Amino acid sequence: MSGGRGGRTVGRERITYHFGPELEPVLEIESGETVTFETLDASSGRVRQASDIPAYMRIRDPGRVNPASGPIAVRGAEAGDELRVEILAIELEDVGWCRLTPGAGVMRDEIDELHGMIFHVVGDELVSETGIRFPTRPMVGVIGTCPAEGRYVTAEPGPHGGNLDFNDVMVGTVAHLPVFVPGGLLALGDVHASMGDGEVSGTAVEISARVTVRVELVKGAARARPWFEAAGCWLTYGTAPDLEEAVRIAVSEMATFLEDRLRVSRPEAFLLISARGDVRIGQSARCGIDQTVRVLFPRLAPAGG
Ligand code: CA
Ligand code: CA
Repeated sequence: MSGGRGGRTVGRERITYHFGPELEPVLEIESGETVTFETLDASSGRVRQASDIPAYMRIRDPGRVNPASGPIAVRGAEAGDELRVEILAIELEDVGWCRLTPGAGVMRDEIDELHGMIFHVVGDELVSETGIRFPTRPMVGVIGTCPAEGRYVTAEPGPHGGNLDFNDVMVGTVAHLPVFVPGGLLALGDVHASMGDGEVSGTAVEISARVTVRVELVKGAARARPWFEAAGCWLTYGTAPDLEEAVRIAVSEMATFLEDRLRVSRPEAFLLISARGDVRIGQSARCGIDQTVRVLFPRLAPAGG
């Protein structure tokens, strides 16, 4: 492990394709340390140009996609604690890619053959092969801690976090991740140079990157599921095969959160979410994994201070 930005580094060769309690940490840190995760894109670094995409698809193993880097352990972390993970920087490599796959994505019925597209990162912009330009919007697709039992491949979202695909998980966002096993075992990856809400074709601008975070251990602070602070809001989420059920879980989670934070009743929480909460789709690509939905609610103070 070499240093980076004054902190520790998890090298790109230290990847996992699942979150599970038996994983060995690749690094152990103290609370408060800064760590840079070198991350590989969803193809594990195999796509650099458009012609690489069909070659990659011939060897692609659906159980080994979307790698996360890590996991790392935080000294002293135990079940019931929380890892507070602040995203300090996301540095993109220079080439990203996107793919349309027959049989996958919202528009699957119109997709007869594989299509790939390369994007080049030019300054703060993405430039497609066809010359379309738009600003980058770097985000972390996969972030989570290892569950106490079972295993989640890194393509899956769940109550441990994982493949959430929320485009507000960006620089400045703070993830609050429950610790389920000793050390917490934090891993992250699947950086996107840009992703639209829904990720409707199943891939965003998939890209390798360096993600720098500060990790703090907060004793006894875990909620049942991860939550985030993003853009002045609290963020809770739901995942389910069905979008409506994912919405219901995300709203239920936010209601529970507001009951605690704003000291309101559950019906009042529902009313407040209806009045001010934004329900937004994370991933709804119909590609065989649960869909993800989040609720964003502004960080308000309880009535009466
Ligand atoms: Ca993803
Ligand atoms: Ca992705």
